[in-house]
Amino acid sequence: MALERETAVAIEAVVLASRLCQAVQARLVQGTTLQKGDKSPVTVADFGAQAIVSAHLLAAFPADPLIGEEDASALRDGDHVSLRDRVTASVRTVRPELSDDAILAAIDRGMYAGGPGRCWTLDPIDGTKGFLRVEQYAVALALLEDGVPVVGVLGCPNLPVDPEDPSAGTGCVFYAARGGGAFMVPLDGGDPRPVRVDTFADPSLARFCESVESGHSNQDDSADVGRRLGITRAPIRMDSQCKYGTVARGTASIYLRMPTRKDYVERIWDHAAGWMVITEAGGRVSDVTGAPLDFSCGRGLERNKGVVATNGLLHDAVIAAIRATLAG
Ligand code: AMP
Ligand code: MG
Repeated sequence: MALERETAVAIEAVVLASRLCQAVQARLVQGTTLQKGDKSPVTVADFGAQAIVSAHLLAAFPADPLIGEEDASALRDGDHVSLRDRVTASVRTVRPELSDDAILAAIDRGMYAGGPGRCWTLDPIDGTKGFLRVEQYAVALALLEDGVPVVGVLGCPNLPVDPEDPSAGTGCVFYAARGGGAFMVPLDGGDPRPVRVDTFADPSLARFCESVESGHSNQDDSADVGRRLGITRAPIRMDSQCKYGTVARGTASIYLRMPTRKDYVERIWDHAAGWMVITEAGGRVSDVTGAPLDFSCGRGLERNKGVVATNGLLHDAVIAAIRATLAG
């Protein structure tokens, strides 16, 4: 398989970061760190996960830059000493040898603006609201070559291994590399299994998924698109790029991300890994106009509006319905 080492290193990094997130979330569930309304657990896990992934990539591929969601400036100022101590302590549960300086430097590696050649992109915790609700979130990592994703890995610690069988537990890692197909391996280990989009060609049989947060995707517009397509089943609302995994394995046929405002630019770390997984699972991803996602503009999808992912068979019908919704 091409990009075998990159894929293996990316999976290792995502699994380590997912473990850190799980440990922080376990304390959150026990209530030992969380005051009502206190968002600091997700902040600790966010910085910690970026440090872990960045340090892991730096050791394996020292020349590769990283576009990450976070930077360490807030941790360097004198007002956040206790937050910094919690971040460094959480990182050292996984990498005991890393100094404070090495951890902050690893986080700051994520400030790359983008450019030609190879570059990784990371969302250390995608779906922070889902993390705080103890619902779905993801650690999302992708490798781009000249602005095109070639490896994608999604760690989804709270996603059921088998949507049909709750006894199979939770924790999925979806991964794909260009030309090699898409796979899911349980976070706790086991054999990788190929994942494939569903084969619904009649939109009325389909099910779509969308954000829980109506501020991230316009749910009135998606409901209108659903009506136009004759969809009768309720949408699956879920935080994070777990939605991409959900379509990639055929639990839903469509992922709709309808723009909420004209000026919002989607971030590349919110879509690159999911794009790779769906594409290799046989599906199709575009923006709401049907244009391919252009990951070559730096940190944002500057040339796109919204996102649509489907099983491929339904794509043109979904784009036509969206066009009618947005025109009406
Ligand atoms: P989701 O969990 O799918 O709702 O998406 C979470 C992501 O939404 C976060 O990582 C943010 O980067 C992104 N986000 C924040 N504001 C918006 C917005 N107005 N429209 C679309 N996405 C947004
Ligand atoms: Mg995100």
